[in-house]
Amino acid sequence: MHEFPRLKLDDMQQDFPGVFDVARYVDVGIGWLPIIREFIETALPMDPSLSVFEVKSKWGALRIWSDTPVIGARLAKAKAEIKSTYRCEICGEPGFVRRPPPGRYAWWQCFCDEHASEDQRSWGTRLQGPMYGYEQVEGQWYRYDEDADVMVPSEPPARSR
Ligand SMILES: [Zn+2]
Repeated sequence: MHEFPRLKLDDMQQDFPGVFDVARYVDVGIGWLPIIREFIETALPMDPSLSVFEVKSKWGALRIWSDTPVIGARLAKAKAEIKSTYRCEICGEPGFVRRPPPGRYAWWQCFCDEHASEDQRSWGTRLQGPMYGYEQVEGQWYRYDEDADVMVPSEPPARSR
């Protein structure tokens, strides 16, 4: 895993007063800042008591731990997490999650072609599982529409075995 500029808790507390007061941990690449900002600027007006507890990368995707009962705010969080898998964690340009081939142990990371290592580039193109781009919020399924940049209500994703 190569090093790259990262957002830390102090940065978030300065940029978004109040939202990260009780947060424990923030550690993601700066390429995802616009996605995090969009989440907060969408969710905060819907839930003025919005608190974020943790922000990190898991399986190559942004993960935001935030406890809000407001459906619109939860949907904004789901959108941010899905959208991160379309954006390079280093620079924010279009990218996808680089998944190592079977039997190979390595981190999953979301990078553009420029920032992926030669090794990561050799792992192939975007691989999409049956759940890719889908998220369930309060029992309703939504799908991320990349072109329109919105979450749209959807039928449950087709599950394949
Ligand atoms: Zn990049």
